[in-house]
Amino acid sequence: MHQDYRCLRILIIILIISLSVVMTDSLGNCWDENFENYDVGVFPSPDWLNSGNNEVYVDNSRSISGSKSLKLIGVLGSCWGAVAHRKIGIAAPFSIQFYVYNGSETLYGCHPEYGAVLLHTGPDWSTWVRYLICFDSDKIIYGAGRGVQHGPEKGIPIGFYTPETWYKVKITYEIVSSAVRLTYWINDEYKGSYDSALMPNENDVAYVSIQAGEGSAWFDEISVTTPQVEAKFRLSSPLKNYNPYNAPISAVFDHSSDGPYGTKDGLVIAYTGEIGDSQNAGSGCDCYNSINNQIFRINGNYTGARSCGSKYYLCYDEHPGFDYPVQNKTPIYAAAKGIAHIPNSFPGVTNAQTFNTIEIDHQNGYKTYYLHLSSQNVSEGQTIDDLNNPIGYSGDVGSPGAYHLHFEVQKEGIPVDPYGWQSQDSDPYQRDKNINLWKSEINQGIINLILIE
Ligand SMILES: [Zn+2]
Repeated sequence: MHQDYRCLRILIIILIISLSVVMTDSLGNCWDENFENYDVGVFPSPDWLNSGNNEVYVDNSRSISGSKSLKLIGVLGSCWGAVAHRKIGIAAPFSIQFYVYNGSETLYGCHPEYGAVLLHTGPDWSTWVRYLICFDSDKIIYGAGRGVQHGPEKGIPIGFYTPETWYKVKITYEIVSSAVRLTYWINDEYKGSYDSALMPNENDVAYVSIQAGEGSAWFDEISVTTPQVEAKFRLSSPLKNYNPYNAPISAVFDHSSDGPYGTKDGLVIAYTGEIGDSQNAGSGCDCYNSINNQIFRINGNYTGARSCGSKYYLCYDEHPGFDYPVQNKTPIYAAAKGIAHIPNSFPGVTNAQTFNTIEIDHQNGYKTYYLHLSSQNVSEGQTIDDLNNPIGYSGDVGSPGAYHLHFEVQKEGIPVDPYGWQSQDSDPYQRDKNINLWKSEINQGIINLILIE
């Protein structure tokens, strides 16, 4: 009895602790600022702190909402920017969103950029740790800068901009296995996700600054929030005897494509960053070899399309999925639960029945497609909740003699690569962000594979 009470007491204490953790998490710490509560012409103290020059004040010449914004003016032809700092208030991961309007003065000083946003350890310009973004005088938006601005590491071009125009910017900052991952959206358009090494003082990042390096910049509607947790939708292998990292692959998802079977560009880019861009394997093949004529490795089991020059050629230009060459009548499984359909068409394919296609609608925006089946084991509208029952058997329907499973994933009608993007370079795919969708136990395997290579 005594023992039981003690357990109960511990349980209550645990409950209280976890409840208070939840409460502190949900209680603010995030903030947003529209500068409406300040007088025009003043610095927005005390939430904001000034460093650099003091040409920073609430302005009513333009705004996104209400009538005010914050104007900053860096000294022209000089090295004396205008800077306003604010405590971030939450630990990584966090998102910073803001609107920025860049001036059009001619810049010729030592950091010729209009608006910029940096991370700092303290509320002083000299404590900066990394550039998140800058609107350079060359009309290029740079992101993921790590070192000295305007040096070799000022960042990666993520887009162009027009002066005297408002831009909506969202940046997510995460620490992912000893690297910083920065993800960008400009005017709600995804601009890529970039990993870079931690800076020595990265752990002490506590302030964000908005700046005008030189010339003028206006900022409005600035907010810091905890990023929405990415929905954990994960796929298992459609083949039981293989996982995605030991399955033979004869054709990859082309990251240089502009649509499912879009405009052919003589370029095939795999999720590993391997590129086929040299000689075409021949008419009707759409497979390209590398400039050095090296074999493609992909997951270590790349075979290439049999009639198109094997593993020296990467297949196919504009291909929106993966081809797994498996024997005829290999059981095929749904990669996740959902509702089965036998579509007449789907984005990119107008004649789906020519390829004996099954679509599984996962009812969260994702659909998966299984093509060339010799037979189907599901009916239209059937609920698939047992992933151990084959939905069909592989074949060569619509692709005579080339027995394989074409497996494709679409998110809201846009093909995405289930392997994500696993190269150090940035993903050239412009249509959506590619996330590794394979289940985590399989994701572990991939790390080993990469290390072995
Ligand atoms: Zn295919």
